[in-house]
Amino acid sequence: MLSEFDLISRYFTRAPRADGPIALGVGDDCALLIPTAGMQLAVSSDMLVAGRHFFADVDPYTLGHKSLAVNLSDLAAMGARPLGFTLALALPEARAEWLAPFAEGLLALADAYDCELIGGDTTKGPLNICITIFGETLPGQALRRDAAQVDDDIWVSGTLGDARLALAGYRREFADQLVLSGEDHARAATRMHQPTPRVALGLALRGIAHAAIDISDGLVGDLGHILERSGVGATLSVDCLPLGPVLMHQPQTLQRQFALAGGDDYELCFTAPASKREAVLAAGRVCDTAVTRIGYIVDLPGLHLVDANDAALNLPLTSFDHFSTT
Ligand code: ADP
Ligand code: MG
Repeated sequence: MLSEFDLISRYFTRAPRADGPIALGVGDDCALLIPTAGMQLAVSSDMLVAGRHFFADVDPYTLGHKSLAVNLSDLAAMGARPLGFTLALALPEARAEWLAPFAEGLLALADAYDCELIGGDTTKGPLNICITIFGETLPGQALRRDAAQVDDDIWVSGTLGDARLALAGYRREFADQLVLSGEDHARAATRMHQPTPRVALGLALRGIAHAAIDISDGLVGDLGHILERSGVGATLSVDCLPLGPVLMHQPQTLQRQFALAGGDDYELCFTAPASKREAVLAAGRVCDTAVTRIGYIVDLPGLHLVDANDAALNLPLTSFDHFSTT
C-alpha cells in the first residue's frame, strides 16, 4: 500500500513550467502563483462525489478528465484564462491501478489547457474529488451572469443533450422511445464522461458577449440564472437548439426535453448585442466551435419558449437540483 506522501509524489507532483505563472508548485505549505499585473483572479471550486456525480466504478482516466473539465468550464464561462488548480482527494484506498489512470486523464487535460496542478490535500474516505481552479480575467471584461441586457441575442456553443441521452441509456429510461444502438450510446457517453471545456471561446468572447454561464444543470435552469441575476426574461426558439448528433435521431419530445433540461453538456450559453452577431460568429470560427443563436432577451421576466412558427410552447421541464431531486 502506498503512503500518502508516496502517492502525492508519484502521481501528483510535477515541476511547473519555468516560464509559466507558477512560482512554486506541489510540495510546500502553499503554492505560489504569479498573476499577470493588472489582471483579476478568477477562482472556482467543484466537488464530484461518487454515486452522486459519477458511478463509483467509472473509468478513472475519464473521471480525471471530467474532474478538471468541469472546473475549466467555469473559467470558460467567465472569459478567464487558466493559471492552475488544486486537488483535494478523498480515497477509500490507495490503488495504483486506479490512481495511475486517474492522474493521467487529469494531467493530460491540464497540459492541453496549460493549467498546472499546484497543490491539494489527500485523505482516506469515500471517493470524493474537489478541485479549486485559478484563472485570470481582464478587469471589466469578465462574462458575468448579471450582465444580460434587453434585446441581446442568446447563443449557445456546440450541441446539447447528448450527455443526458447517455445517462438515459445507462438508466434504461424512456426505453420505449429511445432509438439507441450500442455504438450511438458510446458516442453520447463520450460527451457525458469527457466534456470539452470551451475555454478558447470564453476568451474570444471577451469584449463581445455581455453575460455567460456554462451549462452544467441544463439550459433552462442555467439560462434562468442569467435571467434572474440580470433582472430580465427571454424568448427561446426551441426548434433552433443545436442537438447532439445522437439526440438528433431521437423522437421530438426527447429532443426537446434533453436539449432544454438535460445536464452535463458543459457548453456555454451567452448573450451578446445584435450588433455583435458577426463578431460572435467570427469568435466561433477562430475557436473551431459552433455557435448558434437560440433566442433573445426581453423585458418581461420569465422564460418564454416558442416553436419555429413563434407559437408559445408549454413544456413540462425541470432542471437538475441536488436538493430537490433524489
Ligand atoms: P499540509 O499538511 O501542509 O496540508 P500535506 O502534507 O497535506 O500538506 O501536503 C503536502 C504537499 O502535497 C502540499 O504541497 C500539498 O499542496 C500537496 N498535495 C497534497 N495532496 C495533493 C493532491 N491530491 N494533489 C496535488 N498536491 C497535493
Ligand atoms: Mg494537508
